[in-house]
Amino acid sequence: MADKTGLIMRITDTGFPLSEVFESIQGEGNYAGVNCLFVRFQLCNLRCPWCDTKYTWTRFSDRFDLEKADTLKQTILDRSRHHVIFTGGEPSLFRLDLLAGPDRKYHVESNGTIIPIRPLNMTLDDGVVIERDAMDEAVISQFNWVVSPKLSNSRQPMAPEAMAFWAAQPYVIFKFIAETAQDLDEIEAFVDQFQISKNQVYIGLLGTTVVSQLRPNMVDDIVRRGYHYSPRLHILLWGQAREK
Ligand code: SF4
Repeated sequence: MADKTGLIMRITDTGFPLSEVFESIQGEGNYAGVNCLFVRFQLCNLRCPWCDTKYTWTRFSDRFDLEKADTLKQTILDRSRHHVIFTGGEPSLFRLDLLAGPDRKYHVESNGTIIPIRPLNMTLDDGVVIERDAMDEAVISQFNWVVSPKLSNSRQPMAPEAMAFWAAQPYVIFKFIAETAQDLDEIEAFVDQFQISKNQVYIGLLGTTVVSQLRPNMVDDIVRRGYHYSPRLHILLWGQAREK
């Protein structure tokens, strides 16, 4: 295991900060219900108030291992799941292209604030400096990128340049979480601003209880506006249980 006491994390030297690896179903989006291997990374560049993985936020908020690319890539291949989900935290902080192997479909759950094909040099709130080279676009364009732009209720800064990048990519879907009709209005304005195809947009319902997910009037509104509805199957089945 590499040293993680230093403040600078350059993944080619220190490795990927790995929070947990587990099997479950994809709960949301365009692959909902699919049997997947989840690879969750520690560290995030945002602080959304309703985040359900706050334990990934900093190097102090939970235990994690540092894994070299080759080791983690082999761990993933050994688990024999065709679909592999990179999640976090924010997985695009790290060189995901180095983890791709044969006969797998990779998915990335990202907040969309980082352009993966550019080098990154970012200092996080806990003082960790992330330095990584650009990802190989030929590799990551084969991934299914699930970008979740944050609405005003997250009180997080917008990243318009990154969002314009994502809006231009054919290999991305956008996933929003809404609670009210006003949230749907805000999503519509966002989709208009970045000229996103409605066919790329999936909207799920905010909440961590079964009742919060069973709101037919909101689903009617999502459908009427021309968007896909995304179930949140993990909430319906397991609530907020970890590694589900
Ligand atoms: S971007 Fe995702 S992991 Fe990061 S704080 Fe927001 S919800 Fe949590």
